[in-house]
Amino acid sequence: MKYQAEYPFPIELDRKNIKNLYIRIVPPDGIVRISAPRRMPDRMIREAIEKRLTWIMTHRMKMLERPAQPVHDYKTGDRILYFGRKYPIQNVRGRRSDAVKFNGKQLLIPCWEGQTSEEAQNSLYRWYAGQLQDAAEPLLEKWQAAIGVSITHLTIRKMKTRWGSCNVRDRRISLNLHLVKYPVQCLEYVIVHELVHLLEKGHNAVFWGYVEQFYPDWRNAKSILNSGGIWG
Ligand SMILES: [Zn+2]
Repeated sequence: MKYQAEYPFPIELDRKNIKNLYIRIVPPDGIVRISAPRRMPDRMIREAIEKRLTWIMTHRMKMLERPAQPVHDYKTGDRILYFGRKYPIQNVRGRRSDAVKFNGKQLLIPCWEGQTSEEAQNSLYRWYAGQLQDAAEPLLEKWQAAIGVSITHLTIRKMKTRWGSCNVRDRRISLNLHLVKYPVQCLEYVIVHELVHLLEKGHNAVFWGYVEQFYPDWRNAKSILNSGGIWG
């Protein structure tokens, strides 16, 4: 490939009958795929790469650091994470409205004729949300008192890029549903982190000073979260 030697990433160039140039980064290997108009001079293609170099590099880094997404079918034999440990799934005959149950060893997921893995995942994620809420509430009580702040709302939702968020003005906190897959100290760190935002909005020295003061083990929790990425 002609452009290959110039850049620290693999490039695939595809010339097509199109008017504009497009750059995509393709998972899982982070190949930079460029579609360019047939007659566009090489110089212009290089310019386009240069212009978006920072975007390409950061986007690729993120993609490569992320471990491959585990693929689940949520059938008997599959194993899924629950507060930092993996548990086997056991399917039980049931209906869409039936709740997932945990017997301490296995996760019992209702299964019906023609059920898709997405439907099984919906059942599981509904249960996950309840579990995360149950774990978060006492921690929120504890840390609101310790930090001396109060919130009006807790929301649990699937987020792609953050573990939590804090709306300082409305004093609302959101937690990422995927936290339910990590050890509970990760949840605790995110709760402390978001509550501290009520004292200090930005991620500055003052902010991290508070985090350090209230939750000295924060680095450990943060590195666990970073190493896992956000799983789908
Ligand atoms: Zn923050």
